[in-house]
Amino acid sequence: MSQQQALYRLQKIDTELDARRARLRKINVLLEGNTELRAARSAVEALKNDLAPHEAHVKDMTLENQSVISQASELSARLYGGEVSNPKELQEMEDKIAELKRRRSQLETDLLEEMMVVEELQSSLAAASDTLSAAEAAWSGDQTSLREEQKRVKKEGRALKADRETALAAVDPENQALYEELRTQRQGIAVALLKGDTCTGCWVDQTANVVQEVRRGKGIVTCTSCGRILVTP
Ligand SMILES: [Zn+2]
Repeated sequence: MSQQQALYRLQKIDTELDARRARLRKINVLLEGNTELRAARSAVEALKNDLAPHEAHVKDMTLENQSVISQASELSARLYGGEVSNPKELQEMEDKIAELKRRRSQLETDLLEEMMVVEELQSSLAAASDTLSAAEAAWSGDQTSLREEQKRVKKEGRALKADRETALAAVDPENQALYEELRTQRQGIAVALLKGDTCTGCWVDQTANVVQEVRRGKGIVTCTSCGRILVTP
């Protein structure tokens, strides 16, 4: 095998490897962060945090209301039970009953308002929870297929690395050095096909002399424009 062909084979393998490395990086990013899922989770959390104090308030007011009702009914029973005859004490009891009535009326108004807030937040929370469930279901499907793809791409990468060892061994050390240098300088593409008179790395036409040298296939010929190693298929 000529050095041209050996380098061309190495380049093809490296291009395949680069594509798999890029895909693996992308898969890792996708596996780490799902913005839709994160947004759905924080929406549910935020609504739960909003809802909690209102629910606690409803509970407190309900308890207080029950206590007000039972105090009032105890006082009424005493007031009309005939046990108390002291007019001052009777007046105090009547005043207290009236006060409890006002408190009860206020509590019921407040309760109604607060329950409406709670209901609204609960229905928003139910909708947000549905969105979250859907996002989680989609995410778990995505994750499964991403993990499968990750496994497959890694396996292909391992096979390509083994092929690369063989391909690299066929390239002379000085050409290996040139190849690696060009890979760094030219976005991973060190070897370009000559198509007609044109370098397919930069699409610049080559001189007849260069074309002839490449076709002869003896030594290493580089593109007069981009410097890549030129080969014929
Ligand atoms: Zn070129």
